[in-house]
Amino acid sequence: MWYLKFGVNPQGELITISEVSSGKTNLVCPFCSRSLTAKKGKIKQHHFAHTVETCLRVRKGKLPSLPLYDNFHLQLSAKHFQLVKDLWREYGNTNYALVTVPFELNLKKLFEWTPQGYYFTDLGKIPVAGLSLSKFNTLQESLILSELNRLTNSVEMAKAIGGELLEEKLADLKIYHLQQRRILRFTLYFLEIKCDGKTLHKIGVTSRKIGLRLGEIKRDLQQHFSNININVLNTWQHRGNVELYFKHRYKQFNYRIGKLTEYYKFHDIESVKHDLYSMQPKILEGQELEIWS
Ligand SMILES: [Zn+2]
Repeated sequence: MWYLKFGVNPQGELITISEVSSGKTNLVCPFCSRSLTAKKGKIKQHHFAHTVETCLRVRKGKLPSLPLYDNFHLQLSAKHFQLVKDLWREYGNTNYALVTVPFELNLKKLFEWTPQGYYFTDLGKIPVAGLSLSKFNTLQESLILSELNRLTNSVEMAKAIGGELLEEKLADLKIYHLQQRRILRFTLYFLEIKCDGKTLHKIGVTSRKIGLRLGEIKRDLQQHFSNININVLNTWQHRGNVELYFKHRYKQFNYRIGKLTEYYKFHDIESVKHDLYSMQPKILEGQELEIWS
Protein backbone atom coordinates (compact mmCIF):
# COMPACT_ATOMS: atom_id res chain seq x y z
CA MET A 1 0.00 0.00 0.00
CA TRP A 2 1.23 3.45 -0.92
CA TYR A 3 0.61 6.57 1.18
CA LEU A 4 1.04 10.31 0.62
CA LYS A 5 3.72 11.36 3.08
CA PHE A 6 3.93 15.11 2.41
CA GLY A 7 1.96 18.25 1.72
CA VAL A 8 2.76 21.84 0.74
CA ASN A 9 2.44 24.74 3.22
CA PRO A 10 1.23 28.30 2.37
CA GLN A 11 4.88 29.29 1.70
CA GLY A 12 5.11 26.60 -0.99
CA GLU A 13 7.44 24.39 1.09
CA LEU A 14 7.20 20.63 1.36
CA ILE A 15 6.29 19.41 4.86
CA THR A 16 6.43 15.73 5.78
CA ILE A 17 3.99 13.79 7.93
CA SER A 18 6.56 13.52 10.76
CA GLU A 19 6.59 17.32 11.10
CA VAL A 20 2.88 17.81 11.86
CA SER A 21 0.43 16.58 14.47
CA SER A 22 -2.61 14.48 13.68
CA GLY A 23 -5.77 16.10 12.34
CA LYS A 24 -6.60 19.03 10.04
CA THR A 25 -3.61 20.91 8.59
CA ASN A 26 -3.00 24.09 6.63
CA LEU A 27 -1.23 21.97 4.01
CA VAL A 28 -2.45 21.17 0.52
CA CYS A 29 -1.84 18.30 -1.89
CA PRO A 30 1.15 19.07 -4.16
CA PHE A 31 -0.90 17.88 -7.18
CA CYS A 32 -4.47 19.11 -6.80
CA SER A 33 -3.92 21.86 -4.16
CA ARG A 34 -6.84 20.61 -2.07
CA SER A 35 -6.58 20.46 1.71
CA LEU A 36 -5.03 17.56 3.61
CA THR A 37 -5.69 15.89 6.95
CA ALA A 38 -2.84 14.20 8.82
CA LYS A 39 -3.67 10.63 9.81
CA LYS A 40 -1.39 9.53 12.60
CA GLY A 41 -3.07 6.53 14.14
CA LYS A 42 -1.63 3.39 15.63
CA ILE A 43 -2.31 0.88 12.85
CA LYS A 44 -1.63 2.30 9.39
CA GLN A 45 1.59 4.09 8.47
CA HIS A 46 1.27 7.80 9.23
CA HIS A 47 0.09 9.65 6.10
CA PHE A 48 -1.91 12.50 4.65
CA ALA A 49 -5.43 12.00 3.35
CA HIS A 50 -7.33 14.43 1.15
CA THR A 51 -9.90 16.08 3.39
CA VAL A 52 -12.57 15.64 0.71
CA GLU A 53 -11.63 13.45 -2.25
CA THR A 54 -8.31 11.87 -3.25
CA CYS A 55 -7.08 13.18 -6.59
CA LEU A 56 -6.20 10.99 -9.54
CA ARG A 57 -2.40 11.39 -9.27
CA VAL A 58 -2.31 10.29 -5.63
CA ARG A 59 -4.71 7.41 -6.35
CA LYS A 60 -2.38 6.34 -9.12
CA GLY A 61 0.41 5.62 -6.64
CA LYS A 62 4.10 5.94 -5.99
CA LEU A 63 5.76 9.33 -6.47
CA PRO A 64 9.38 9.96 -7.36
CA SER A 65 11.55 10.24 -4.26
CA LEU A 66 15.11 11.18 -3.35
CA PRO A 67 17.50 8.21 -3.64
CA LEU A 68 18.96 7.02 -0.32
CA TYR A 69 16.99 9.59 1.65
CA ASP A 70 14.77 7.53 3.93
CA ASN A 71 15.34 3.96 2.77
CA PHE A 72 18.69 2.22 2.89
CA HIS A 73 17.80 -1.35 2.05
CA LEU A 74 18.05 -0.91 -1.73
CA GLN A 75 14.95 -3.09 -2.17
CA LEU A 76 16.96 -6.17 -1.24
CA SER A 77 14.96 -9.26 -0.40
CA ALA A 78 15.20 -10.39 3.23
CA LYS A 79 17.44 -13.26 2.15
CA HIS A 80 19.86 -11.05 0.22
CA PHE A 81 19.89 -8.42 2.95
CA GLN A 82 20.93 -11.06 5.46
CA LEU A 83 23.61 -12.30 3.09
CA VAL A 84 25.04 -8.79 2.62
CA LYS A 85 25.11 -8.35 6.41
CA ASP A 86 26.92 -11.69 6.85
CA LEU A 87 29.46 -10.87 4.13
CA TRP A 88 30.06 -7.44 5.67
CA ARG A 89 30.63 -8.91 9.12
CA GLU A 90 33.07 -11.43 7.67
CA TYR A 91 34.92 -9.34 5.09
CA GLY A 92 33.87 -5.69 5.52
CA ASN A 93 36.76 -4.56 7.66
CA THR A 94 39.42 -6.81 6.18
CA ASN A 95 41.52 -6.63 3.06
CA TYR A 96 40.24 -9.99 1.90
CA ALA A 97 38.38 -10.04 -1.38
CA LEU A 98 35.36 -12.25 -1.96
CA VAL A 99 35.83 -15.05 -4.45
CA THR A 100 32.24 -14.92 -5.63
CA VAL A 101 29.02 -13.01 -4.95
CA PRO A 102 25.44 -13.86 -5.99
CA PHE A 103 24.49 -12.58 -9.41
CA GLU A 104 21.62 -10.43 -8.05
CA LEU A 105 23.92 -8.53 -5.69
CA ASN A 106 26.41 -7.99 -8.46
CA LEU A 107 23.61 -6.73 -10.68
CA LYS A 108 22.63 -4.19 -8.02
CA LYS A 109 26.23 -2.89 -8.08
CA LEU A 110 26.86 -3.77 -4.43
CA PHE A 111 30.22 -5.32 -5.31
CA GLU A 112 32.94 -4.57 -7.82
CA TRP A 113 35.29 -7.04 -9.35
CA THR A 114 39.06 -6.58 -9.25
CA PRO A 115 41.75 -9.09 -10.26
CA GLN A 116 41.98 -10.01 -6.53
CA GLY A 117 38.24 -10.70 -6.31
CA TYR A 118 35.09 -8.82 -5.30
CA TYR A 119 34.98 -5.86 -2.93
CA PHE A 120 32.07 -3.91 -1.49
CA THR A 121 31.26 -0.77 -3.51
CA ASP A 122 30.22 2.46 -1.74
CA LEU A 123 26.62 1.58 -2.61
CA GLY A 124 27.11 -1.92 -1.18
CA LYS A 125 28.10 -0.39 2.16
CA ILE A 126 24.80 1.51 2.48
CA PRO A 127 22.50 -1.31 3.69
CA VAL A 128 25.08 -2.33 6.30
CA ALA A 129 25.66 1.32 7.33
CA GLY A 130 29.35 0.94 6.56
CA LEU A 131 29.82 4.04 4.39
CA SER A 132 31.26 7.20 5.98
CA LEU A 133 29.03 10.29 6.02
CA SER A 134 31.30 12.18 3.67
CA LYS A 135 31.31 9.40 1.06
CA PHE A 136 27.57 9.00 1.58
CA ASN A 137 27.11 12.64 0.56
CA THR A 138 29.13 12.18 -2.62
CA LEU A 139 27.27 9.00 -3.58
CA GLN A 140 23.81 10.34 -2.76
CA GLU A 141 24.42 13.64 -4.56
CA SER A 142 25.29 11.84 -7.78
CA LEU A 143 22.22 9.59 -7.47
CA ILE A 144 19.96 12.58 -6.75
CA LEU A 145 21.29 14.27 -9.85
CA SER A 146 20.82 11.24 -12.11
CA GLU A 147 17.23 10.79 -10.89
CA LEU A 148 16.66 14.49 -11.62
CA ASN A 149 18.02 14.00 -15.13
CA ARG A 150 15.79 10.99 -15.65
CA LEU A 151 12.68 12.95 -14.59
CA THR A 152 13.70 15.93 -16.75
CA ASN A 153 14.13 13.61 -19.74
CA SER A 154 10.69 12.09 -19.11
CA VAL A 155 9.21 15.60 -19.32
CA GLU A 156 10.99 16.19 -22.64
CA MET A 157 9.76 12.84 -23.96
CA ALA A 158 6.19 13.61 -22.88
CA LYS A 159 6.41 17.01 -24.57
CA ALA A 160 7.42 15.30 -27.79
CA ILE A 161 4.64 12.73 -27.53
CA GLY A 162 2.00 15.17 -26.27
CA GLY A 163 -1.22 14.34 -24.46
CA GLU A 164 -2.08 13.72 -20.81
CA LEU A 165 1.28 12.23 -19.90
CA LEU A 166 2.96 15.65 -19.91
CA GLU A 167 0.91 16.94 -17.00
CA GLU A 168 1.81 13.90 -14.91
CA LYS A 169 5.52 14.10 -15.73
CA LEU A 170 5.63 17.83 -14.95
CA ALA A 171 3.96 17.16 -11.60
CA ASP A 172 6.48 14.41 -10.83
CA LEU A 173 9.36 16.76 -11.60
CA LYS A 174 7.80 19.44 -9.40
CA ILE A 175 7.40 17.09 -6.45
CA TYR A 176 11.00 15.97 -6.84
CA HIS A 177 12.20 19.61 -6.86
CA LEU A 178 10.22 20.25 -3.69
CA GLN A 179 11.92 17.30 -1.97
CA GLN A 180 15.33 18.60 -3.05
CA ARG A 181 14.46 22.08 -1.76
CA ARG A 182 13.38 20.59 1.52
CA ILE A 183 16.70 18.90 2.31
CA LEU A 184 18.64 21.98 1.18
CA ARG A 185 16.49 24.18 3.44
CA PHE A 186 17.59 22.28 6.53
CA THR A 187 20.62 22.84 8.70
CA LEU A 188 21.97 19.70 10.36
CA TYR A 189 23.00 20.13 13.98
CA PHE A 190 24.91 17.97 16.44
CA LEU A 191 24.53 18.58 20.17
CA GLU A 192 26.26 17.42 23.30
CA ILE A 193 23.84 17.19 26.19
CA LYS A 194 24.79 16.78 29.82
CA CYS A 195 21.84 15.84 31.95
CA ASP A 196 21.95 14.62 35.52
CA GLY A 197 25.50 13.32 35.12
CA LYS A 198 24.88 11.57 31.76
CA THR A 199 26.51 12.67 28.52
CA LEU A 200 24.27 12.18 25.47
CA HIS A 201 24.36 13.44 21.90
CA LYS A 202 21.57 14.51 19.61
CA ILE A 203 21.38 14.78 15.83
CA GLY A 204 18.66 16.76 14.12
CA VAL A 205 17.70 19.26 11.44
CA THR A 206 15.98 22.61 11.59
CA SER A 207 15.02 25.29 9.10
CA ARG A 208 14.81 27.91 11.84
CA LYS A 209 17.42 29.59 14.01
CA ILE A 210 19.14 26.93 16.12
CA GLY A 211 18.37 28.91 19.30
CA LEU A 212 14.63 28.43 18.80
CA ARG A 213 15.10 24.70 18.42
CA LEU A 214 17.29 24.51 21.54
CA GLY A 215 14.48 25.97 23.65
CA GLU A 216 12.13 23.19 22.52
CA ILE A 217 14.74 20.50 23.09
CA LYS A 218 15.34 21.74 26.61
CA ARG A 219 11.59 21.68 27.33
CA ASP A 220 11.40 18.07 26.04
CA LEU A 221 14.29 17.01 28.25
CA GLN A 222 12.93 18.75 31.34
CA GLN A 223 10.20 16.09 31.41
CA HIS A 224 12.93 13.53 32.17
CA PHE A 225 15.91 15.35 33.74
CA SER A 226 16.44 18.27 36.07
CA ASN A 227 19.98 19.46 35.42
CA ILE A 228 20.38 20.03 31.66
CA ASN A 229 23.24 21.62 29.76
CA ILE A 230 23.14 21.76 25.95
CA ASN A 231 26.21 22.50 23.87
CA VAL A 232 25.98 23.00 20.09
CA LEU A 233 29.00 21.08 18.77
CA ASN A 234 28.46 22.00 15.13
CA THR A 235 25.94 22.90 12.44
CA TRP A 236 26.00 22.18 8.70
CA GLN A 237 23.93 24.30 6.34
CA HIS A 238 21.91 22.62 3.55
CA ARG A 239 22.67 19.17 4.97
CA GLY A 240 19.14 17.85 5.59
CA ASN A 241 20.08 14.87 3.41
CA VAL A 242 22.31 13.29 6.09
CA GLU A 243 20.04 13.09 9.14
CA LEU A 244 18.30 9.81 8.32
CA TYR A 245 21.45 8.09 7.10
CA PHE A 246 23.15 9.14 10.36
CA LYS A 247 20.28 7.49 12.27
CA HIS A 248 20.68 4.36 10.16
CA ARG A 249 24.46 4.34 10.59
CA TYR A 250 24.43 4.78 14.36
CA LYS A 251 21.22 2.92 15.17
CA GLN A 252 22.91 0.67 17.72
CA PHE A 253 23.86 3.68 19.86
CA ASN A 254 20.38 5.16 19.89
CA TYR A 255 19.28 6.05 23.42
CA ARG A 256 15.54 6.20 23.96
CA ILE A 257 14.22 8.75 26.42
CA GLY A 258 10.48 8.16 26.63
CA LYS A 259 9.10 9.15 23.22
CA LEU A 260 12.27 10.99 22.18
CA THR A 261 14.19 9.10 19.50
CA GLU A 262 17.05 11.35 18.36
CA TYR A 263 19.41 10.84 21.28
CA TYR A 264 22.57 8.75 21.33
CA LYS A 265 24.99 7.36 23.86
CA PHE A 266 28.25 6.67 22.05
CA HIS A 267 31.14 4.49 23.22
CA ASP A 268 33.57 6.30 20.95
CA ILE A 269 32.42 9.86 20.37
CA GLU A 270 35.71 10.82 18.71
CA SER A 271 35.08 8.48 15.76
CA VAL A 272 31.53 9.86 15.37
CA LYS A 273 32.88 13.42 15.42
CA HIS A 274 35.51 12.47 12.86
CA ASP A 275 32.78 11.02 10.64
CA LEU A 276 30.68 14.20 10.90
CA TYR A 277 33.52 16.71 10.70
CA SER A 278 34.97 15.05 7.58
CA MET A 279 31.90 16.18 5.62
CA GLN A 280 32.63 18.91 3.08
CA PRO A 281 30.57 22.10 3.46
CA LYS A 282 27.59 21.94 1.13
CA ILE A 283 28.06 24.50 -1.65
CA LEU A 284 24.96 24.94 -3.77
CA GLU A 285 25.74 24.77 -7.47
CA GLY A 286 24.08 24.39 -10.86
CA GLN A 287 20.55 23.05 -10.64
CA GLU A 288 20.58 23.19 -6.83
CA LEU A 289 20.93 26.98 -6.99
CA GLU A 290 17.93 27.20 -9.31
CA ILE A 291 15.92 24.89 -7.06
CA TRP A 292 16.92 26.90 -4.02
CA SER A 293 16.13 30.37 -5.44
ZN1 LIG B 1 -4.39 15.69 -4.57
